[in-house]
This record gives sequence, structure tokens and C-alpha cells, in this order.
Amino acid sequence: MQRFFMSPESLAGSSVIVTGEQAHQMRRVLRLRPGDPVIFLDGAGHGCDATLESYGRDEARFTISRRWDAEGEPGVHITLYQAVLKGERFAWALQKGTEVGVSRFVPLVCERNVVEDLAAIEKRRDRWERIIREAAEQSRRARLPELLPAQLFRSAVKRAGQPEDDATPARLIAWEEEQAVSLRQALAGCNLSPGSHIEIFVGPEGGFTDDEIDSARQSGIRSFSLGPRILRAETAGSVAAALILYEAGDI
Ligand code: SAH
Repeated sequence: MQRFFMSPESLAGSSVIVTGEQAHQMRRVLRLRPGDPVIFLDGAGHGCDATLESYGRDEARFTISRRWDAEGEPGVHITLYQAVLKGERFAWALQKGTEVGVSRFVPLVCERNVVEDLAAIEKRRDRWERIIREAAEQSRRARLPELLPAQLFRSAVKRAGQPEDDATPARLIAWEEEQAVSLRQALAGCNLSPGSHIEIFVGPEGGFTDDEIDSARQSGIRSFSLGPRILRAETAGSVAAALILYEAGDI
């Protein structure tokens, strides 16, 4: 059944009016007909069954028949700090990360990012958000992963200086030169129980610089290896996320 993420406000009443691009997609692309059932999700873990009643000039009208709490979200909340990549590669990282179960993405600008400044990166936000939403609908996520504002690597690592408590996420950085610590070893000291948080950092095509690895370590971020093979930057994040969820017993 088709699934659609909607704003929580639009799902507040017993009927739902869908407009714009989404209404067009329903009518012309998916060819939904009156009487067809759909699922609406509010992005925060609540879902409802609805039926298409009719189309208006530029809208589709639905009636909600049942509300439920959506399940299937990972217990461990993974935030992927992913270096911005060229061309379609970053979108690919978002799409695959969403399918695997990443909860939050942060685009990172690292020293070896030839890319644009933060403002230029933000211009790609609409497209990236659409890719996350479509991937979340397709993969039956109950919650819509968040896309946080882009950050410079050096500001993103700093937050780790805060005192540790239960709410402090474990922070790990994927480093292809790491010989001593595997992901499994790095995870051995991490809380993977439901409700826990893990942050992972993945570098750009050219990798992290030694200075970046040093400053991450000084901020208490632990480096880990994903094995002897070098993964492309857009692959490393979803592989790490899948392995974390596997260790947590979710996959
Ligand atoms: N240019 C580098 C590879 C960079 S791979 C080289 O040729 O050596 C891009 C990013 O993916 C890295 O910064 C790292 O975060 C992650 N990565 C890829 N393979 C990895 C591995 N085997 N172990 C840990 N991290 C890896």
C-alpha cells in the first residue's frame, strides 16, 4: 500500500486534503482512484489508514478510518555525520542510510572537501529532504529521518567536550588507516540498548586528514576500522549503520 509522510497538522482531523506536487503524484503518477486505501504517516511515529474520496482541481481528499502507532524503528538512534560528496553520491548516501535505519543526517564540510561553503550546500536541502522522504516511504520507516544543517567538521567534533552522562551519545569516526580498533571493538564499550544514541563520522572521497583525526580524538571521538577493504565514502556510512544495528540485535 502506498505510504505518504504528511505534516502532523494535516492529519489532525478526520479528513485530509493533499495539494500540490503530492496530489499530482497521487493522481497522475500513482494513478490512485477514489476508494483506494493509503497510509499516512506524521513522521513522528504515528500512522493512519485512509481512503481516497475524490479529486478536486488541484487536490485529493481522503477520509481517515483508523489511527495507529507505527512500529519498526531501530531502538538505537544513529546520527550519521557524512562529508558532503560530489554529484549524486551524497543523495545516494542519504537514500541508503534511510533504508538501513539512520535516524539523523548531518552534512559535513571537511578539509578535503573541495566543495562549496555551508550556504551553497543548504541550497541542495530541498532535494535531499525529498530523497529522504521517498526512501522512508519506500522502506516503511515509521519516523522520518532528520536532515540537520550542514556543519564544518571542526565545529561538529567540538561538542564532545561536554561531560559524559547517559544521554551523551557514543561518538565514533570511520578511519581507513585505523589498524587496531574494529567497529565491533569500538562498539563493545557503547550502550546499544533501546533509546541509546550513537554518532558516526564518515569522511569525503579523499578521506579525513591526520589533523582531523587528531582533533576528533582529542574531543573523545573514537576511530574505528570497517575492515581491510576501502569503501567508497557513500558506502561506508550505511555499512557502519547496518553493522551497529546488527550488533544491537535490530537486524
Ligand atoms: N581516499 C581514501 C579513502 C577514503 S574512503 C583512500 O584512498 O585511502 C571515504 C571515507 O569512508 C573515509 O574517510 C572513512 O570515513 C570511510 N571508510 C572507507 N573505508 C573504510 C574502512 N575500511 N575503515 C574505516 N573507514 C572507512
